[in-house]
Amino acid sequence: MSAAELLAFDREHLWHPYTSMTDPAPTRLVTGAAGSRICLDGVGEVVDGMASWWSAIHGYRHPVLDEAVRGQLDRVAHVMFGGLTHEPAVELARRLIDLAPEGLDRVFLADSGSVSVEVAMKMALQYQRGAGRPGRNRFLTVRGGYHGDTFDCMSVCDPDGGMHAMWSGVLPEQVFGERPPGLGGDVAAWAAGFRALAAEHADRLAGLIVEPLLQGAGGMHPYPAECLVVFREVADEHGLVLVFDEIATGFGRTGTLFAAEAAGVVPDVLCVGKALTGGYLSLAAALCTAEVARGLSAGDSGVLMHGPTFMGNPLACAVASASLELLSTGGWAADVRRINTGLQALHGIDALDVRVLGAVGVVQLDHPVDVVEATEAGLAEGVWLRPFRDLIYTMPPYVCSDEDVAAICAGIAAAADAG
Ligand SMILES: *Cc1c(COP(=O)(O)O)cnc(C)c1O
Repeated sequence: MSAAELLAFDREHLWHPYTSMTDPAPTRLVTGAAGSRICLDGVGEVVDGMASWWSAIHGYRHPVLDEAVRGQLDRVAHVMFGGLTHEPAVELARRLIDLAPEGLDRVFLADSGSVSVEVAMKMALQYQRGAGRPGRNRFLTVRGGYHGDTFDCMSVCDPDGGMHAMWSGVLPEQVFGERPPGLGGDVAAWAAGFRALAAEHADRLAGLIVEPLLQGAGGMHPYPAECLVVFREVADEHGLVLVFDEIATGFGRTGTLFAAEAAGVVPDVLCVGKALTGGYLSLAAALCTAEVARGLSAGDSGVLMHGPTFMGNPLACAVASASLELLSTGGWAADVRRINTGLQALHGIDALDVRVLGAVGVVQLDHPVDVVEATEAGLAEGVWLRPFRDLIYTMPPYVCSDEDVAAICAGIAAAADAG
């Protein structure tokens, strides 16, 4: 099929994320990718400012990651995980336990970020049942969050962003605290309100789930690390299972390997995904403490009630281990610092707000972005961006050069102008 035929078929038959099938937004045809660049039909090579939704941290066609997939393909691509195990899964779990905050040493391998959040929520609910508190079946969270698109995940997403009004009667009703203040904001005032809310609802609450340090798809909102201490204290005070969803922040994005480290806080359950496989395959994990694992097993069923068909997929585990091996050399930290320095140029853009944290740069406009116009303007500067709401942002691959980062900043400036 020609490029035109591919695009025509796509437009007629394929759903893309959050799009209409009757009035689809334009899509671009990718013909290849390498390093920090993707190739678009009719456009040519552009710098990828999105790292494929924050996952391709080592860039595309990385020789070590390519080889990990090829090598595993010669052994076995997939086998069921029920009653069977394999070296790639064991090796990955070993590495994750090694890298994760101390004590998170029980690993559930899930096939996507949303599923890992579902599993984390199940862990919390089953834990409370095991403790003889089945009435604790709600979750405490904060406004402005994003935890995935399946129903339980949606129930803890921002009520407005997650369109809870549209789903009322369908979604479980959770308890929402105010969004933590931005960097430099008044943590004490926010914390007082959050503690009071937790106390008010404590006897109904199973867990507390948040994205630590940076709310991603809910609004690209970085917040002070002290808030993580508040989350830990509130969870301890009321017997809640503390879940950190690090699907966006994990693996160095905010400047520490895990965002939890910024405050030295250890959650009871940690979700990772997105960059786990370096953006190669869909894989996520929910790690929990031995205490949570023991507690949830004390319930009626005695088992964790989850087991996806593609659990522990060997290809995905092999490439994830290779990605963690690349991270373990530590070069990512200098890359993230370097990118952070380059992204400071965003502060020169005239906008409602500019926020830079780790290898994340966000420009907030005073109006919703015209995504088509902004995308075009970015491409004209040789940069792939995917703005949403009033936000034009970047989470580039760690391998992008200083020139790439400068191009991304120029692309964002042009997109902000056009959009
Ligand atoms: C992307 C994301 C998810 C959902 O992951 P999927 O793999 O898309 O299901 C959940 N939580 C956070 C914080 C995310 O950024």
